[in-house]
Amino acid sequence: MDELHEEIRQCRRCHLAETRIQAVPGQGPVPAPLMLIGEAPGKTEDERGQPFTGAAGRILDIMLMEAGLSRDQVFITSVIKCRPPKNRNPNRQEVAACSIHLDRQIALVNPVIIAVMGNVALQALFGPALVIGAVRGKIIHHEGRQYFPLFHPAAMLYNRSLGKTLKEDFCLLAEMVAQTS
Ligand code: URA
Repeated sequence: MDELHEEIRQCRRCHLAETRIQAVPGQGPVPAPLMLIGEAPGKTEDERGQPFTGAAGRILDIMLMEAGLSRDQVFITSVIKCRPPKNRNPNRQEVAACSIHLDRQIALVNPVIIAVMGNVALQALFGPALVIGAVRGKIIHHEGRQYFPLFHPAAMLYNRSLGKTLKEDFCLLAEMVAQTS
């Protein structure tokens, strides 16, 4: 994984390489039973080089803690490894260019469960027909793994009322993880 992450830091497969401070490959144990996939680094992640270290990361940490999980147990990354300017949504070319990195990370981490956080990650993996509001909390069996879609933690920054659902989904996720051991 260290070699792959070094490759990601040097990656120039799309234009985001021109505007990033640094790429944010991901973080966590390899292998790991649970992998979390978000959208893309934001300002803080771009500055620090570590995933989910800004406002969304604080919510993620609370959700993990309330579900009885911790960061050391899970591998955390995002679909896109470089910050899109002004935090706009990544476009199809960027998702396609970066998918090679995500595929290799999934192969190395070899998770039983992949938590897919938010629409960008969901649609990058499963195409535009799926929307998070309709499929969150429902397991998708795909290529021998269980994918578990849930709202992106940042959604709570805009809509506090999603907190209850997010917490329930993280608790379900923790139960699924407990069943893998
Ligand atoms: N949101 C993401 O999806 N990923 C990060 O690393 C930070 C915020």
